[in-house]
Amino acid sequence: MFSKVLIANRGEIALRIIRACQEMGVATVAVHSTADADAMHVRMADESVCIGPPSGTLSYLSIPAIISACEITGAEAIHPGYGFLSENANFVQIVEDHDLKFIGPTAEHIRQMGDKITAKDTMKRLGVPCVPGSDGGVPDIAAAHSISDKMGFPVIVKATAGGGGRGMRVAQTKADLDQAFSAARSEAKAAFGNDEVYIEKYLTLPRHIEIQVFGDGKGGAVHLGERDCSLQRRHQKVFEEAPGPSITPEIRARIGKVCADAVADINYAGAGTIEFLFEAGEFYFIEMNTRLQVEHPVTEAIFGVDLVQEQIRVAAGEAMSFKQDDLTIRGHAIEVRINAERLPNFTPCPGKVTTFHAPGGLGVRMDSALYDGYVIPPYYDSLIGKLIVHGPDRAAALARLKRALGEFIIDGVETTTPLFHALLQEEAIQSGDYDIHWLEHWLDANS
Ligand code: ADP
Repeated sequence: MFSKVLIANRGEIALRIIRACQEMGVATVAVHSTADADAMHVRMADESVCIGPPSGTLSYLSIPAIISACEITGAEAIHPGYGFLSENANFVQIVEDHDLKFIGPTAEHIRQMGDKITAKDTMKRLGVPCVPGSDGGVPDIAAAHSISDKMGFPVIVKATAGGGGRGMRVAQTKADLDQAFSAARSEAKAAFGNDEVYIEKYLTLPRHIEIQVFGDGKGGAVHLGERDCSLQRRHQKVFEEAPGPSITPEIRARIGKVCADAVADINYAGAGTIEFLFEAGEFYFIEMNTRLQVEHPVTEAIFGVDLVQEQIRVAAGEAMSFKQDDLTIRGHAIEVRINAERLPNFTPCPGKVTTFHAPGGLGVRMDSALYDGYVIPPYYDSLIGKLIVHGPDRAAALARLKRALGEFIIDGVETTTPLFHALLQEEAIQSGDYDIHWLEHWLDANS
């Protein structure tokens, strides 16, 4: 086992990883920008190193600063969390070149899955069902028309380097295609420095179902069921649950095995998520995330496992602590993402938190780096907390979520909690009958 791990991240996820390390007796090193000198992850780690100015590009994304922080502190491994450098294959290569261990998959697997066209080709080859679409990149608008005419509208133009819902445009009809194609390309160029796009059939009523997988890097792998993350705004998740209300044990076993076999086949190491759209009983692969997901706690709740500790164990060369047969689902879990944003427009709302009271009690987990008097800096993502509830069944989890939201107090900044109070009143949320467009329609009708 490692004796010291550096956490190349901030906020709630840095804390999450520090907690996992502490329970394993592993010392921790926090890194931080000058804007985060008073952040909770810095206070909770055993040591900390300032790695640059507020801008993420100059601090949490600065590879030389992070490698130097390892060398100064003697950390042997780096946990990247999610976002920042977590899916940067070049970073992984550099980490390994410095004889450090990256807690995650190999650079090659990250590269393979980070390019969505390569990822789709790989998954197709491994027997995973994919969304019908172009074979690889679409070079120009003439090719876009010819493919879309053949497939039929609506279609979605997507950036091969895409992420975070960027570089994606829907063309409902042929008349929209020119605009969608050029907008997706220029957004992709600006966001990822790569304007290659591909085209998929646009599914009109799907749910977003993702399968959590875990590999030992030696051809062994398991799946930990699904998460339903269909409640999205601008292709970004806001409410996630496990198990999925539309997934039966038979469906889960079937798609779970396909996914576990696929990652076993490529000797994948660590945690990964295979994302699908699920419509009319069929799964369509959209992408694989080669890291820990924001919503991993709902899976931890229903399976009673610690995915971060498992990542650390596998990275240290130890065997996985569970086999497929050990994994059984108990109850139902829901996560809501609490952002420092002002409704109804979701405008970022950084500033000083004058009062903070986290909900508690049976089946309630609050992952957050907040404290009384903390000043939320304006430079980073607006996610400030995740409220996760677990109950014996879905109805109990919903009741617990309502109770926990009622206990949550935060003064000084505005947050997205009123959204969840309102959503819990909705029949579609109570019954679990929603698709990936439901929330956008609801927001249009209720703002
Ligand atoms: P990103 O990596 O940017 O998150 P994804 O490929 O994971 O992009 O897609 C994000 C979301 O965009 C999906 O959850 C879904 O809501 C929507 N989406 C993507 N592809 C399609 C498609 N073919 N049909 C309908 N919706 C889609």
